Amino acid sequence: MTIEELICYGKKYLHTNEVYMLLSHLLNYDNLELLNYLDNRVENAKVVKFKEMIEKVMNKEPIQYVLGNVNFYGYTFNVNKSVLIPRFETEELVFYTIDYINKFFKEEVSIIDLGCGSGNIGITLKKKIKNSKVTCVDISDEALKIASNNANNLGAEITFLKSDMLDNIKNKYNIIISNPPYISRDEDIEDIVKNNEPHLALFADNDGLYFYEKILSTCKKNLQSKFLIAFEIGMNQREKIINIVNKYFSDVIIESKKDLSGKDRMIFIYHV
Ligand code: GLN
Repeated sequence: MTIEELICYGKKYLHTNEVYMLLSHLLNYDNLELLNYLDNRVENAKVVKFKEMIEKVMNKEPIQYVLGNVNFYGYTFNVNKSVLIPRFETEELVFYTIDYINKFFKEEVSIIDLGCGSGNIGITLKKKIKNSKVTCVDISDEALKIASNNANNLGAEITFLKSDMLDNIKNKYNIIISNPPYISRDEDIEDIVKNNEPHLALFADNDGLYFYEKILSTCKKNLQSKFLIAFEIGMNQREKIINIVNKYFSDVIIESKKDLSGKDRMIFIYHV
């Protein structure tokens, strides 16, 4: 079949943009190149693969897992079902964190990303902040494997450690950042998320607050005197997390930010 025939075939089942994403990934072209080579024949093995990918997307598998990667902050991160698919909201967390770091930390900063998954937060910070030392932590060996491959692919020098949040961590850091699992166990979430993404990375006890308390109750031993803690949070968790912060810290500034959909999505706790 030609590229044009494959595009027509795909459009019978999927949205046009999904068809272009799958085909350009498979043929290693960008979208414009696809249009330039409409008459080119595609080898049979790739046609078969294309049809399989279409079927997976039709069967409600997230397209990022079908492609095996996702763009986050302009970088390509490989993903599979053992890690959460990086979200737009998390780009916002990284964006504001970079802002805080540039404002308050002129010298070298040490950063630890707790529950790093594919490594998207820690690796992006390493790429964007000159003079940073970054450690990425996860409890999952599979996640650590993907994250360290991503770091290699993106040329980022990162220390990887296996730990349940700060349990095995001895060093002190300026920045603790985390997008922990924060969905309450009884919350109804979209099927495509529930049926495909790792529950280990999504759900948490205590109405989704478990990991904020776990981190905040143990992190003093791992903080430099000048520090910033940056959390992604679930909507409706802002007040409760601020209460937890106040339980463990007295002289800090706490600021929250909304994501682009207007939902409370990030909390920054700092002493600088
Ligand atoms: N933001 C993710 C979602 O809504 C949840 C991520 C998390 O629990 N950290 O699916």
